[in-house]
Amino acid sequence: MPVSVAAVDKARILQAIAAHGHGPRLGKPVEAAPREVSCQRVARKVPPQRPGEKSGLTELPVKKSMKLVILDRDGVINEDSTEFIKAPEDWVPIPGSLDAIARLNRAGFRVVVATNQSGIRRRLLDIGTLNRIHEVMHRQLAGVGGHVEAIFICPCHPKDDCSCFKPNPGMLLDIAARLRVSLESVPYIGDKLSDVEAARAAGARPILVKTGVGEKTLEENPDLGAVGVFENLAEVADSLIADHA
Ligand SMILES: [Mg+2]
Repeated sequence: MPVSVAAVDKARILQAIAAHGHGPRLGKPVEAAPREVSCQRVARKVPPQRPGEKSGLTELPVKKSMKLVILDRDGVINEDSTEFIKAPEDWVPIPGSLDAIARLNRAGFRVVVATNQSGIRRRLLDIGTLNRIHEVMHRQLAGVGGHVEAIFICPCHPKDDCSCFKPNPGMLLDIAARLRVSLESVPYIGDKLSDVEAARAAGARPILVKTGVGEKTLEENPDLGAVGVFENLAEVADSLIADHA
């Protein structure tokens, strides 16, 4: 049965644009991207949090461990495309990925997404379209009983040398700061070398999946066999759940 937008709103959709200290948005689309987008420019478009307004991300004392999983998006949750995911209809989940997130949720894991979205800087899509893409993801996820707590985005171009653009660790460090958690042993699951490098730089636990470009990444970097390598997100989820049983 289709899940209504209201139900998705109830699930407290969060989307945070990474970098430069601005807060997450709760259940509302971010304004359309300005003509030229960088982290700073997008940041200035996001209204500051009002005093006393809850961020939506639960603030906790710093914890050394938390049942937290951070996911790359393209090639991990949804099928990637060399043409970029630039419209809601382009977003197609990898078989089993949404159920995997739901299983993680039921096992008590908080799930957060950290994703490079340079298509914004390349002017292939704007923030409003990205929000609509994520509404599709949230809705389909809710349909199987799962949810992601927040989506952190870096909209920059690789040439911008943004501290948040993977392989730089900015988004992961931002998640750690907002959740007040050490990333030690927190998995960051991706399909590219830049995901592994970002995880290592942030002090998180890199995990590579073979979906997306994961197989190619492994062929080109056979030493990555030393990090956890799994067929897909479903297999990672089963392993993490078993480890924490
Ligand atoms: Mg990816």
